Amino acid sequence: MYANVIVEYGVKALNKMFIYKIPNELLGKVKVGMKVYVPFGYQEVFGFVLEILDNNDTDYETKEIIRIDNEDLILNKELMNIGKYLADTTLCTLITAYQTMLPSSLKIKKQEHDYNLYDEYVTIINKEQAINYMEKYKNRKGQIAVIKNILNNGKILRKDISNNILKALKENNIIEIKKVKKYRINKEQKELIRKKLTSDQENIFNQVDFSQYKTYLLYGITGSGKTEVYIKLIEKCLKMNKTAIMLVPEIGLTTQIANRFYEAFGNDVAILHSSLSQGERYDEYVKIMHGEVKVVVGTRSAIFAPLKNLGIIIIDEEDSSSYKQDNNPRYHARDIAIYRGKYNNIPVVLGSATPSLESKARADKKVYELLRLDKRVGNAKIPIVHVVDMEEEMKKRNNIFSDLLKNKIAEKLNKKEQIILLLNRRGFATFITCSNCGYTYKCPNCDITLTYHKTTNNLICHYCGFQIKKDLLCPKCGEEALNYYGLGTEKLEEKIKELFPNIRVVRMDQDTTRNKGMHEKIINDFKEYKYDLLLGTQMVSKGLDFPKVSLVGVINADTTLNIPDYRSSENTYSLLSQVAGRAGRSNILGEVVIQTFNPDNYVINCVKENNYDKFYIREMGFRKKLKYPPYYYLVGIKVIGKDYEKNLEYAKKVQYYLSNNLDKETIVLGPTTAAILKFKNEYRMQIIIKYKYDNKLLGVLKDLDKIFANNKDSYLEIDFNPLRI
Ligand code: ADP
Ligand code: ZN
Repeated sequence: MYANVIVEYGVKALNKMFIYKIPNELLGKVKVGMKVYVPFGYQEVFGFVLEILDNNDTDYETKEIIRIDNEDLILNKELMNIGKYLADTTLCTLITAYQTMLPSSLKIKKQEHDYNLYDEYVTIINKEQAINYMEKYKNRKGQIAVIKNILNNGKILRKDISNNILKALKENNIIEIKKVKKYRINKEQKELIRKKLTSDQENIFNQVDFSQYKTYLLYGITGSGKTEVYIKLIEKCLKMNKTAIMLVPEIGLTTQIANRFYEAFGNDVAILHSSLSQGERYDEYVKIMHGEVKVVVGTRSAIFAPLKNLGIIIIDEEDSSSYKQDNNPRYHARDIAIYRGKYNNIPVVLGSATPSLESKARADKKVYELLRLDKRVGNAKIPIVHVVDMEEEMKKRNNIFSDLLKNKIAEKLNKKEQIILLLNRRGFATFITCSNCGYTYKCPNCDITLTYHKTTNNLICHYCGFQIKKDLLCPKCGEEALNYYGLGTEKLEEKIKELFPNIRVVRMDQDTTRNKGMHEKIINDFKEYKYDLLLGTQMVSKGLDFPKVSLVGVINADTTLNIPDYRSSENTYSLLSQVAGRAGRSNILGEVVIQTFNPDNYVINCVKENNYDKFYIREMGFRKKLKYPPYYYLVGIKVIGKDYEKNLEYAKKVQYYLSNNLDKETIVLGPTTAAILKFKNEYRMQIIIKYKYDNKLLGVLKDLDKIFANNKDSYLEIDFNPLRI
């Protein structure tokens, strides 16, 4: 028997299959979809088995498969197909696609590592024999107690038996020890107070048809009870003996949602997200592979979960940018969800309080079915939004806190209610400049200013992570004249404590959540009212449900609004409405204070009125005029290289090649400098393709990719439907 194996070997040109002989000891064990190790040249590389063959009709000598990576892990037929779809639509190699679909703990090359943890149990081999033994040796009290204990319980843990008793009973063939795989994450289902769906929720629930593929867009305002609807849909799915995938965005949300799912489904749930340890991830994956769980809750890559008999796929906060992978393969989880929905003929539900323009437009065109929840659950009201003009405040020297925000914070503290502050910049100061000579600390690799982090006294590049210690004196002129500019979350924390000396503040950003479990701890502590105020970056904006929060403050709404990108209005609308949605989720009325230098901007106005539809219509108008999605599709192409001049030349050639080969209706723009021109010492030029229909596109891009595969100076990054350009 032979196997057709696609091997990993860096270069794109090697996206090829090779035939290997299956050695006798692996006969019947090697299966399609398995990861195997094979000899390749003088090396040992891994690959995936694509086909099993009876005969080998090639005339070259075939080598043998060395070993199977892990017999438990097989990409089933559906996943093999998804891999092909991924490779076709993102132009990655098939092997990269398959690699992406398996958790990283299984990607470790050439290294045996048993991630399994075991419990050892002791059982009785033969009951009669054990009883005879007890009668024969009545004086062996210790042993008899242990035997009785095992007989009563069926099995007991090895560690609960003393070593000499264990040894004696084993020697007499009374007991045996069994290893049972143990999982790191193990949650019992708690007593759940089942909520009865409101009639609005019930109505949505009933509209989802489980008998066929269809994509639904559940547009429900913050606090309208979407999560509860998801839970009921999944419950129904389980009753039909089917399984479910529930995707949540990368940041923050996972813990809270995961807890709600554990409450509802206990050990039927597996969790897959980036802050699990490799071992935990492996365990969760094994549970899914073995069909021991029925619900998978996770971030982007959980869309590849190898669940059998899928019944529904739900994507919460479908507009979150974390669903798009920003390195190769640049896939969007929503596309994979729809692929799997069609493959399994099941419903896909996309939920959001601020749907992406693409999804809303598709719903309007009836490609998706729109479901709406327009009211908050119970007595909760949507919050009142105040917009503060910071230009007026600056005249009063209020450069961080407006009078209104200060007063509201004081008022809520008095009432023992909680507050959330959003500032979308971490660190202490965004740059440091010498007032004597004008020197500014910059990243040597990326040419941008370094952000000062006071806690660690480090200056850090937020693009590439480069860091150095801050000096006391200016490194250029030697004067003690270094000044801090710009505001980050660290400084905000210091300032709020100066204003309200007794306030209990907790900060949540990348820096405070670096250690495992910190995220969860901050959220739980805040929920248990160990703090009055939670401040942080966009981590605080989405999905969190704290009933005592009655005030949300946005320190500077302009940070995202001013980013030069076609999506910055949409992102700002979404961020501000989401964070506003954290206020007033129970019976206390919520208030939101948005500080901005653009109080008349339509995005801010629509947030103030909580009017998504108005925002949508306005924004669609701009997109149409400027030929952006959802009216046109985009492809972003980056040409990247160390030598600026050479790279620019290549970029021009790419532009020329595309203009000449693509459809006449297709627009090719550029080359221009990318939003981040220099990154890790490489220059990045960008070309944008805008098109409605272009049959030639994929072919032309594949050819271009091949041409560049051998280029030593520059390389290409091709991004279909980029979320930022
Ligand atoms: P969303 O996901 O739309 O932001 P949630 O599902 O988090 O909204 O619901 C908001 C709040 O309302 C939560 O505290 C939730 O427990 C509560 N809730 C949701 N549905 C119901 C219901 N049917 N009965 C009672 N409370 C509910
Ligand atoms: Zn850098």
